[in-house]
Amino acid sequence: MESLKNSDLEIYSYISAELERQKNVLNMIPSENYVSSAVMEACGSVLMNKYAEGYPFKRYYQGNKNVDEVEKTAIERAKKLFGAEHANVQPLSGSPANAAVFLAFLNPGDKFMGLDLACGGHLTHGSPVNFSGKIYHNIPYGVDKETGLLNMDEIREIALKEKPKMIISGLTAYPRKIDFRKFQDIAEEVGAIHVADISHVAGLVASGVYPSPLPFTDIVVTTTHKTLRGPRGGLILCKEKYAKQIDKAVFPGMQGGPHENTIAAKAVAFKEADSEDFKRYSLQVVKNAKTLSEALMNEGIKLVSDGTDNHLILIDLTFYGVGLGKEIAEALEEAGICLNANTIPYDPSTPFKPSGLRLGTPILTTRGMKEEEMKLIGKWIADVIKEHKNPELLKEVRDRVKELCGKFRFY
Ligand SMILES: *Cc1c(COP(=O)(O)O)cnc(C)c1O
Repeated sequence: MESLKNSDLEIYSYISAELERQKNVLNMIPSENYVSSAVMEACGSVLMNKYAEGYPFKRYYQGNKNVDEVEKTAIERAKKLFGAEHANVQPLSGSPANAAVFLAFLNPGDKFMGLDLACGGHLTHGSPVNFSGKIYHNIPYGVDKETGLLNMDEIREIALKEKPKMIISGLTAYPRKIDFRKFQDIAEEVGAIHVADISHVAGLVASGVYPSPLPFTDIVVTTTHKTLRGPRGGLILCKEKYAKQIDKAVFPGMQGGPHENTIAAKAVAFKEADSEDFKRYSLQVVKNAKTLSEALMNEGIKLVSDGTDNHLILIDLTFYGVGLGKEIAEALEEAGICLNANTIPYDPSTPFKPSGLRLGTPILTTRGMKEEEMKLIGKWIADVIKEHKNPELLKEVRDRVKELCGKFRFY
């Protein structure tokens, strides 16, 4: 970053400090990952300079010969990786991708179903503070209060009663498998479109270590920057019969010029994900999450649904008090472990002061950590949860975290 250093020392120094943070902290926010240098190079390339409204070989501006090849390659790779009939690689991120899907199939005020935010859904699945809940009519579904699991019979009953035009399946804080086939069947039974939002688990899906909603699901939406380990961005996959509707909704419906630099980086990430190496990575992500969840439970920590099938874990802190999530997340940050406070299903507190912690293993696994490290980290997290106001403990854990990070350099 020599040019930046010379021209803008202020921004350069913030970025350098962030690099140090990413090296020396255990980053366990399950929606984050560390991308390869190849992905970053494509993302920072001269493709950033080009306007390319339209689609490959059908553009509104001249000069898109190279860009067309880039976007065409990204589309072909996405289709191959997920086994999809059609791919749109232009969505700027996960939320705009979902907005485009709403625009494609619903009119303002139309009914749809999505997983309640408090039970593990995403803002764009119908939260009242989001466009999805403001413009459209959300009928939320939740998880079972005892088991923390989706109850497909109950979801079907709601669908039969409400007759939504669209049903969204997908998670941001649900640690178990989702029966996408059952969602599609229910949608077909009530004449709704089924949208599977696999933003969190896309990398695991591509590797075959988590159930895939393809090829049978109508529409599949994902981000490219979570377990898939690509640049920040979105992707929509669908059956050929919905291709035109989706493409029109993304452009000109929702967006203007696509970010072709990011699209190139997506293509690079799709190629990386289409490998034995990445399959091994995804398998290890899940193994690590399972080992970590066992380490936590062995220390007496309660987990929502008592474990995990994917890359994420949701800790229920109510045994230690109501609304402790933020406080304990801050103590853990002090100890060098970065995760996020999160609501748990039927949280006795508020979303601003939630009673849970959400954490995951994608970054630790990218750095090369395995079961042995997960056992250590699980113990440290449990120790901090139990004594989060003990400054000596926080310092001791921070020192050990730094030492561990030193052995697992990524950048
Ligand atoms: C992360 C996520 C999104 C939103 O993605 P952004 O890139 O943050 O806009 C949408 N849906 C789900 C399920 C997600 O996990």
